[in-house]
Amino acid sequence: MTQNLKLYINGEWVDSSNPEMQDILNPANQEVIAKAPKATKEETKEAIKIAKKAFESGVWSDRTPQERAEVLLQIAVKMEENLDELAQLEMRNNGKTLREARSDAADAANTFRYYAGLLNHPDGVTYQATGDLQTMIVKEPMGVAGLIVPWNFPLLMSVWKIAPALAAGNSIILKPAEITPITAVKVFELMDQTDLPKGVAYLLMGSGSIVGQVIAESDDVDIVSFTGSTGVGRNIMQAATGNLKKVSLELGGKSPNIIFDDADLETAVDYALFGIFMGAGQVCSSGSRIFVQEGVYEEFIEKYVERAKRIKVGLGNEESSQMGAIVSEKHMESILEYIQIGKEEGAHLACGGNRILRDGLEKGFFIEPTVFTDVTSDMRIVREEIFGPVVVIQKFKDEAEAIRIANDTEFGLAGAVFSKDQNRAMRIIKKVRAGITWVNAYHLTNVQAPWGGYKQSGIGRSLGTFGLDEYQETKQININLDPKPIHFFE
Ligand code: NAD
Repeated sequence: MTQNLKLYINGEWVDSSNPEMQDILNPANQEVIAKAPKATKEETKEAIKIAKKAFESGVWSDRTPQERAEVLLQIAVKMEENLDELAQLEMRNNGKTLREARSDAADAANTFRYYAGLLNHPDGVTYQATGDLQTMIVKEPMGVAGLIVPWNFPLLMSVWKIAPALAAGNSIILKPAEITPITAVKVFELMDQTDLPKGVAYLLMGSGSIVGQVIAESDDVDIVSFTGSTGVGRNIMQAATGNLKKVSLELGGKSPNIIFDDADLETAVDYALFGIFMGAGQVCSSGSRIFVQEGVYEEFIEKYVERAKRIKVGLGNEESSQMGAIVSEKHMESILEYIQIGKEEGAHLACGGNRILRDGLEKGFFIEPTVFTDVTSDMRIVREEIFGPVVVIQKFKDEAEAIRIANDTEFGLAGAVFSKDQNRAMRIIKKVRAGITWVNAYHLTNVQAPWGGYKQSGIGRSLGTFGLDEYQETKQININLDPKPIHFFE
C-alpha cells in the first residue's frame, strides 16, 4: 500500500488541510512509492509562528552547547542504526545507486556526529582592549532557520542544514524538494525519537512557490538557507528583503576540470569520469567542462570515451549498476533537449546521447553517459548547467588559455587541475575562481571543509566551523572592570 506522508508540526505528524497530494515516484520504474501533502500558505505561516515561540521560550536555544551536543549525538546514533533503510529509501526516491545512497547516508550520520563534537569545543574570544574594558565575543543562535533543499541529495542536503542549524540552537523549518521528501520524513521520525524538544523542528512538504516562498518572505524567519538552482536562489534573495533576513545560498555550477599534458593520464581519465557521471551528473559540483591540453587531447578522448561507454547504467538496487536514473521525466526531457542543442550547435557527439530503453529500464528515466568534444566557449552546452550525465571536452594550448576559459563562466562552485608538476598545479588552482577545488582528484571532500561557491554559485558556506557560523549571530559583550562615573558631560 502506498504510504501517505504527513507534515511534522509542533512535534506531531499531521495531515495538511489541503486534500491534494503529490505522487512520489521511483524514477527507476515510475512506481508510486508514497503520496506527499502539499502544505498551504496558512499552515506554513502557522508553523513558523510556533517555531518562533519555541525559540523565544529557550527550550532549545537556552540549552548549553553540551546539552545540544548530546541530542545531536542521539540523532547520529539513530541514523547509524538505520543506515540501510535510509540508503534504500534514498535510492528508491531519487534513482541513485545503492552504492551512492549508502555513502550519502553514512555522511549524513557523520555530519550530526561532527557538529556534536564541535559543540564540545569552546568558541568565542575574550580580550582586554583598553585599560579596564574586558571584551567577550560570543556566538548566539539566530532564531528560526528556514531550510530549503533540492532533489539531488535529498538526505545529505537536508542534514547539512539541519545539523548545524540545530547545533547553533535555532528552531528549524525544513522544506524538501516536492519530488523527494521520503528520507527527510525518515530523519524527522528519527529525531522524534530523541530528546529534541517538541516545537523546535518542522517538516513542511509542498511547492516552492507556496511553502518556499512563505519561508523566504516571512518576517519571523531569521535566516533562509537554500540549496538549489541559481534562478530560484535569486528569487529567494529578493523575497528575503522584507525583514532583511540572512540569506545563505548554495547554487548551481559548471565546473572546470583542467588536464595538462604532464598529468598521469589514467588518473585524470578516471577522476574525470567520476567527476561528471557520479550521481548521473546531477551533482552541483560536477566537473561538467573538461579542458585538455593539446598534446594529450586525442589520447585523452580516446581513453575517456572508451571508458564512458563501459559505464553500467542500471537499477539502483543492482550491485552491478554504476550509474542510476535521472530524478524525473521532466528533468530527463530537459537533459535530452540540451543534448539536441549540442548537436545543433555543431559539437561532436563522441558517445551516448540517448535515453536508455533496454529491458528492465524501459519504465525508468535513464540516459547514456554522453560526451561532446570539439566544443567552443560560446555554445549553450558549455555555458549552461545541464545537471545530467553530459560532459563537454575542449582543447587548450597553455596555462594562460586554460585559466581564461576555465573562468569564462558565471558560476564558481568547483574546479580541478591534473598535472604531475605541483608548482604548475598550485599556480592554476589558485587562479580558478571557485570555492571547492582539487589537485589530481575530483569530488573528494569532508565534513570539516567549507562547501560553497564564488560568483553566481552562491553566498556563504556549509559544513565545518564556517557552516555553524552561518546559523549564528555574533555579539560583543563589554565588561567594565572598574565601574565608576565616566563624567563625559561635565
Ligand atoms: P530548484 O531551485 O528548482 O529547487 C530547490 C528547492 O527550492 C526545492 O525545494 C523547491 O521546491 C524550492 N523552490 C522552488 N521555487 C521556490 C521559490 N520561489 N521560493 C522558495 N523555494 C522555492 O533546484 P532543484 O532542481 O531541486 O535542484 C537542482 C539545482 O540545485 C541545481 O542547479 C544544482 O546545481 C543545485 N544544487 C547546488 C548545490 C550546492 O551545494 N551548491 C547542491 C545541490 C544542488
